[in-house]
Amino acid sequence: MAQWEVPAFLREKIKEQYGEELAARILQGYKGERPVTLRVNALKTDAATVEQELEQAQIGYQRVSWSNEALILNDVREQEVRRLASYEKGEIYLQGLSSMLPPLVLSPTAGESVLDMAAAPGGKTTQIAALSGNMASITACERNQIRAERLRYNIEKQGASRVCVMVTDSRRLDDFFSFDKILLDAPCSGSGTLEVCRRSSKNHLDKESLRRFSKVQGELLLKALKLLKPGHEMVYSTCSVLTEENEQVVKRALAKTDAVIIPVDTGSFAGVTLLPVSLDGVMCVCPDSLYEGFFVAKIKRQQ
Ligand code: SAM
Repeated sequence: MAQWEVPAFLREKIKEQYGEELAARILQGYKGERPVTLRVNALKTDAATVEQELEQAQIGYQRVSWSNEALILNDVREQEVRRLASYEKGEIYLQGLSSMLPPLVLSPTAGESVLDMAAAPGGKTTQIAALSGNMASITACERNQIRAERLRYNIEKQGASRVCVMVTDSRRLDDFFSFDKILLDAPCSGSGTLEVCRRSSKNHLDKESLRRFSKVQGELLLKALKLLKPGHEMVYSTCSVLTEENEQVVKRALAKTDAVIIPVDTGSFAGVTLLPVSLDGVMCVCPDSLYEGFFVAKIKRQQ
């Protein structure tokens, strides 16, 4: 018997949103035994050096067309990768492919101030640091004290030197702050990932928990749009495939503000299978044997 099961509530939700045929594909996608993937930390090394180390350790790998830093490893378990010197030294970060997409869409550059509103354990914070060559000044917020410790550890290990960690609920950040770019990788049901199927019955996904996620996501997004400088862009992402946590949250925020969608250039992510969306310009990745389900929207504040 499988060690996990897609919760009945989620199965029905997915069927309702996507129809029988696509739902079957999404549910099949959960079953994909995804290989270990990593991001080369460009702050400390480069892909060629990491590839050499993998070859020496006889670990096969494949490159990814949309990033020089992303590698898919063949037939290896995470524990073995954790034993590599490059892992010890923070030259690589174990990160799912879909999880690398939001920082790429955000596209931070040197000199910018960037807020990461839900930052732990720090995969995307450190990716933002790397993408800017450690030249963006990053504020990483995390509400959970223990997870914030993990965030600090990863920031240090990855050599992200211009990150300030704030242990706070991002909804309470002072409106006095303003940022050039914001990433809101929101807390969510995890319905794009297998994790949602592994949770204990205590934390199971149901109508009420989905409503709560959606509410918090909406509050965080409105806060983000307050803290974003006028004329600037942010990214809203979740590892969920449910419209209640994705398009509906974004649509509500757009209705309450003057913000607009900036279409994600999905053409630049070859090999990523997309799900239909109910809002033009946003992107939802279909879970499959390489990718977890993920939603990404780029939003611009006008005034
Ligand atoms: N961006 C992270 C990464 O790439 O490593 C993953 C973020 S995870 C989806 C969401 C995180 O947001 C969790 O660590 C959770 O504790 C935190 N969180 C939840 N609600 C929050 C809030 N209101 N303010 C700040 N952080 C929050």
